[in-house]
Amino acid sequence: MSINQSTITTNGGIRSTFVEVNLPQLSRNLDAIRGVVSPAKIMIVVKANAYGHGLTTVAKYLDPQVDYIGVAVLEEGILLREIGVGSPILVLGGIWGDQIPLYIENNLTLTAPSVERLAQINQAAQAAGKKAKVHLKIDTGMERIGVHYYNAHTLQAAALKCKHVVVEGIFSHFASADGADLAHAKLQLERFNEVLHFYDKHSLSMPIRHMANSGGILQLPESHFDMVRPGIMAYGVYPSLAPKRTIEVKPTLAWKSRVVYFKVTKPEHPVSYGSTWQTDHDVRIVTVPVGYGDGYFRAMSNQTQVIIQGKKYQQVGSICMDQIMVNIESDSAFNGDEVILIGGDENGEKVTVEELAEWAGTIPYEILTNINTRVPRIYISE
Ligand SMILES: *Cc1c(COP(=O)(O)O)cnc(C)c1O
Repeated sequence: MSINQSTITTNGGIRSTFVEVNLPQLSRNLDAIRGVVSPAKIMIVVKANAYGHGLTTVAKYLDPQVDYIGVAVLEEGILLREIGVGSPILVLGGIWGDQIPLYIENNLTLTAPSVERLAQINQAAQAAGKKAKVHLKIDTGMERIGVHYYNAHTLQAAALKCKHVVVEGIFSHFASADGADLAHAKLQLERFNEVLHFYDKHSLSMPIRHMANSGGILQLPESHFDMVRPGIMAYGVYPSLAPKRTIEVKPTLAWKSRVVYFKVTKPEHPVSYGSTWQTDHDVRIVTVPVGYGDGYFRAMSNQTQVIIQGKKYQQVGSICMDQIMVNIESDSAFNGDEVILIGGDENGEKVTVEELAEWAGTIPYEILTNINTRVPRIYISE
């Protein structure tokens, strides 16, 4: 959905709670990443609705700016082909045998995590009269999908015999590249390098090697190889507090709503479900139409702050499914006033994804990917 800002109304048309995505900032973030990793190529990861930014618009916009697109599941890849995305697309997750023809039909690159799956891919490609493009997945210390590094040669050797498969790439994934302690990440890197020797040893051409997620991009330059796979950093959010912010990126998403109701609340009149908060003096309370049904986690109740008229205010009482209450004390606010849930305003006040993650007891990734589809996305293109 692409809607001009002037079409946002409080009394009709689009819902007054929405996410605003700044597309050019996405490009600037990618440029910043490219500046550091070049000549390595960039695979933008757009799984989980492009980290909440809206899969189709983001992928369409970035299609000409990236070398590769990474998704988690087959359905995401098929959707991107249906809307005309032309970049190579790697499905990073696990595969089921009966889905393989769909990958081939839609020209999606498969993750080959085992000898058995590789054989199935080869067979399906032969049946389709096509060559299947695969990236071999090596498990160097995540214990998720992929062949163990100590057995990797079996997969690498098997691939040489698969006539209907092209091994375009080989990759691994870090378990903790965004932490302060990089010992495990470095061990993983060492194991991956060991696995790659196979190609030199047998005088074979090297497939596209890739390993770095946002943490690896920031903290382990040796992991950039031929391609990097930025997710969260491309969206302007750092993977955790630990890494030095050596690449400057800025958030590409703001979450906004509007005041929908105003009342004065007296002492001994607790606010919201479960009566978890009450005042000891008369306060002004405004209601904002957003709740955990949108992905504004209930776990953040009585902790979050929002910005109204350039000032931060405390959300009070339990977060409801569709509404929250905010204490503006003796200040004034009017129906229709903008409420910033994530983002900044002209006065320099801001609420960050990191803060919401802290309030909810989770990580920024979970905040972004849980803003659900009931919340319309609006795109700023300049
Ligand atoms: C999600 C994912 C990424 C991107 O990770 P970020 O930490 O968001 O940069 C890269 N590679 C794989 C395999 C992933 O699953």
